Amino acid sequence: MTPRVHLERDGEIAVIMIDNPPINAGSAAVRQGLMAAIETLRSDDTLEGAVLIGAGNTFIAGSDLREFGQPLTEPQLPSVIVAIEACGKPVVAALQGAALGGGFELALGCDARVAAPGTVVGLPEVTLGIIPGAGGTQRLPRIVGIPRAIRMICSGERVPAAAALEAGLVDQIAAGDLRSAAVAHARQLKGKKQRVRERVVPSAQSAEVDEATSAALKAGKRRPAVQAAIDAIKATAHVGFDDGLADERAVFQRLRISREAFALRHQFFAERDSAKHPSLGEATPRAVEHVAVIGAGTMGSGIAIAVLDAGYRVLLLEQDAAALERGAQRIHAHYATRVQGGKLGASAGATCEARLKTSLDWAELAQADLVIEAVFEELGVKQQVFQRIDAVARPGAVLASNTSYLDLDAIAAATSRPQDVIGLHFFSPANVMKLMEVVRGQASAPDALATGLALGKRLKKLPVLTGNAFGFIGNRLYAAYRRQCEFMVEEGAWPEQVDAALQAFGFAMGPFAVADLSGLDIAWRMRQAQAATRDPQARYVHIPDRLCEAGRLGRKTGAGYYGYPEGSKGPQVDEAVHELIAFCRAEKGVVPRSLSDDEIVRRVLLAIVNEAALLLAEGVAERATDVDVVLVNGYGFPRWEGGPVFWARERGAAALQDDMLWLAGLCGPGFVAGDLHHLLTTEN
Ligand code: NAD
Repeated sequence: MTPRVHLERDGEIAVIMIDNPPINAGSAAVRQGLMAAIETLRSDDTLEGAVLIGAGNTFIAGSDLREFGQPLTEPQLPSVIVAIEACGKPVVAALQGAALGGGFELALGCDARVAAPGTVVGLPEVTLGIIPGAGGTQRLPRIVGIPRAIRMICSGERVPAAAALEAGLVDQIAAGDLRSAAVAHARQLKGKKQRVRERVVPSAQSAEVDEATSAALKAGKRRPAVQAAIDAIKATAHVGFDDGLADERAVFQRLRISREAFALRHQFFAERDSAKHPSLGEATPRAVEHVAVIGAGTMGSGIAIAVLDAGYRVLLLEQDAAALERGAQRIHAHYATRVQGGKLGASAGATCEARLKTSLDWAELAQADLVIEAVFEELGVKQQVFQRIDAVARPGAVLASNTSYLDLDAIAAATSRPQDVIGLHFFSPANVMKLMEVVRGQASAPDALATGLALGKRLKKLPVLTGNAFGFIGNRLYAAYRRQCEFMVEEGAWPEQVDAALQAFGFAMGPFAVADLSGLDIAWRMRQAQAATRDPQARYVHIPDRLCEAGRLGRKTGAGYYGYPEGSKGPQVDEAVHELIAFCRAEKGVVPRSLSDDEIVRRVLLAIVNEAALLLAEGVAERATDVDVVLVNGYGFPRWEGGPVFWARERGAAALQDDMLWLAGLCGPGFVAGDLHHLLTTEN
């Protein structure tokens, strides 16, 4: 095993360097190295204290999560921390970059913490379905009190250095060189131990504790480990430190092999790898500093905000002066609200806005390194726009379309440089949604695609590479999902039952409430356009068409799958919809039957999994795990379920084949079965 910890000497102070690139993740080798170094510190009489520091530009930014699914090797982190506490000499943690999870627990086990400006500290374990397992729940409340510990651990908050200093989480911010500051701090502490374990915890009985608990449970209803974390934190008030540590470890050990933790780790790795695509080879992203956005509507202004937030200069271009003004106003109002709400400093807001330029002059496009088109969803309009871009954009600029459904190759064909054309499919609201599809056209150059993926990362989004097919990955999966829900309504379930069952499973919203929110008319127009080419044998549910024909286009018309009478807070069950559905069923001779919530959820999952298998076989999705990233980050699929592919793999080939035969029978003619074997066995 390569040594991951080195011990250097600075006079009588040992400098213990953790060197496990790229993020100095805690691992068996790191723990062994730390244990050996602490033993040297303890037994060497010429050493009077130590500094723990990370090589490179970070402390320990997390743990090697792959270890969490297996039996943990010795020494485990709590033993390393016990050794630090028992060594008889002061140990100072020198923090930079990120000190997260086990890394921050290690720091809390030291006698003091010195941080470089720009450091973030935190215990984000609950976002991975576990709780801190090396004393985090026991030491943190001894520093910040129970309410703040609940807030911090349950949300996985990352606390910046200045706030950490104020809260007492770090003792000093290093003005100059971190290592020297930490060594000086260790010298000051010579002969002293100041262990966090000896501090007293304020009471768990207070209105503030109750408030923090209920807020954490409310916000964390989607995080299975929240209650366990709260219990462990509150125990500090009445359980001795060592018993508290033992109880915390037992809960950690139980949760780390729970289903949720496996699912969340799966999602973590799928997201981490989403922007890395072996099929792009060594392609390096093109340099981008100046971005032009064409179209200042809903998407264009949202995209402009996302790009401004990431520090780019932005040119917002329109054909219509009034639309441009509305877009500029929307962007301004957005920053004003964030500044007023305290979410953004006034000067940071002003800096973002100062990087924006609005224009009606196409010649200005010549400055852009990347052009993102977000005009009306009509092929002719987009082709014309791309011709105009082609005429002025500089050679090598990446030209991107935000189309949701149109053929990217047909758009690229309007230019003399299809190799520079890619799709960048943002989701609405574009400055909020994490998912971004990067669409590969037939001629898209690898470095143009790499530019799209790099942009996504810089925008702090999750970019997923997709082939150029109707609906790409996300909207194709969602169409299969919605179609299945419509089948179930036709067979006997009411929309509200389908929505409730899927929400209980964990979806952020049910599909019919979502349809009402986004409007039923877009899909209606699309069905009308596709009517001539539809497979006449395939099952077709008329209910959505009938709703539209009745003027029920969703929330904007006050009626859709639900009613929205004046003054109502949300969707209301509407008898008129039941009657319309009953009429449609009778028209087809369907005798309604009752469907269980379990059937509803299972059919939705199977329909998505089947579509995912088709997307993989067609090469639209390159990796099965990308499907999970798309569903969780773009369509409200519950993260702690890991995603449909995780679910399918967990279910196993035999059960899934049986399930799929059952689904095919229920769906009737037109059901196209995907290759499940490939989906289940492909490496990613
Ligand atoms: P929108 O109608 O709100 O905005 C379109 C804007 O483009 C308008 O301001 C219009 O003036 C401008 N425009 C039209 N033709 C133009 C031209 N020739 N030159 C310059 N500007 C022109 O539409 P939107 O909802 O923002 O959608 C834009 C694109 O984004 C569409 O392709 C759509 O499919 C896609 N998209 C929309 C969503 C969504 O939820 N709205 C989500 C993902 C992708």
